[in-house]
Amino acid sequence: MTKSHRSKPVGIAKRIRELPDYLFAGIERKKAEALAKGKNLIDLSIGDPDQPTPPNIIQVMRLAVEDPANHGYPPYAGLSRFREAVAAWYQRRFEVKLDPGKEVLALIGSKEGIAHIPLAFLNPGDLSLIPSPAYPVYNIGTHLAGGEAYFMPLSREKGFLPDLEKIPARVAKGAKLLFLNYPNNPTAAVASKEFFEEVVKFAWQYGIIVCHDAAYSEIYYDDYLPPSFLEAEGAKEVGVEFHSLSKTYNMTGWRIGFVVGNAEAISALGKLKTNIDSGVFSAIQVAGIEALNGDQAPVEKIRSTYRERREVLVKGLREVRLEVDSPKATFYLWIRVPKGYTSVGFAEHLLEGGVVSTPGSGFGSAGEGYVRMTLTKDKDQLTEAVERIKKIGL
Ligand SMILES: *Cc1c(COP(=O)(O)O)cnc(C)c1O
Repeated sequence: MTKSHRSKPVGIAKRIRELPDYLFAGIERKKAEALAKGKNLIDLSIGDPDQPTPPNIIQVMRLAVEDPANHGYPPYAGLSRFREAVAAWYQRRFEVKLDPGKEVLALIGSKEGIAHIPLAFLNPGDLSLIPSPAYPVYNIGTHLAGGEAYFMPLSREKGFLPDLEKIPARVAKGAKLLFLNYPNNPTAAVASKEFFEEVVKFAWQYGIIVCHDAAYSEIYYDDYLPPSFLEAEGAKEVGVEFHSLSKTYNMTGWRIGFVVGNAEAISALGKLKTNIDSGVFSAIQVAGIEALNGDQAPVEKIRSTYRERREVLVKGLREVRLEVDSPKATFYLWIRVPKGYTSVGFAEHLLEGGVVSTPGSGFGSAGEGYVRMTLTKDKDQLTEAVERIKKIGL
């Protein structure tokens, strides 16, 4: 449309104008400049698996796409076969029983459900308790629903778990939602079933709905097996758990996830979604069933690939005297920045050396003092990244 047709300026809504600034903008610009100059960069800032979706899932998808039964609108809550597959997987993996009719809902990726759940629960001005640092969608979803965030700082001394006792009673009483994410992005921290039990007590006491994001529950190493929030006694009375097929099965582009747990919460989110989207393409749900129920050897392979890469990068970073804990789960390393640097300053220094990381402060103010690197590049590139850091020094 030309200017002459427009009678007044485009009035972009406050909720969009007020979206928090994109904190990686500076780094992104510098990255683009470096690439434009033909600089070779090893990008360890991307939380997207570099490997393809396993072939058994692709094969089932191929056939499902050809079946006209899958071409119409899917049922809103997801195919009943998909919801049954989720319930069966939960039983096998966590020994948690779910009613596939009432306690399971298919999502267009877990991000979609996480972004939407505040709309189902928050009235304007209502509070969400949100960790800092954290996956940005908890805060953005809260903001888009007209809610307010109360940030719970995560520190290494507390194992990057929020200190629930530090939340003032006045704040807890006013809060409606509590977001948690273990295994954690970006800190790679993990939570025990005992911690989840404390969370259940806290949520009971204050009448809060817990939204646990378990996107990395299957990306674990060695003898560590992440628990489900729903394994905690009483969890289903107070909360829901979001899962994603994205990271577990290298399916980020397919857009499929699910939420399970409290039936009332699931029903409220489902009611909202029936008015916004029309569900996940049935063929993708059929492929999702294969992912959950089929051969799990590809997941073993995915874990062992990340485990080998973790050894290479953790060892290399320690050789250059960077402080980093070896993660028990997730494909992230949460690295302390050396003295004298801010998160952004150190990320810029690494970028000059040809290595892209994410400044921890981009995930919230309590992420200051760290950068995040991902294991989504092969061992040779990780080795080369360490060589580049050696060359520029800290
Ligand atoms: C990747 C990621 C998600 C989103 O996954 P999708 O199912 O692809 O939407 C959710 N939470 C965290 C913490 C993530 O890192």
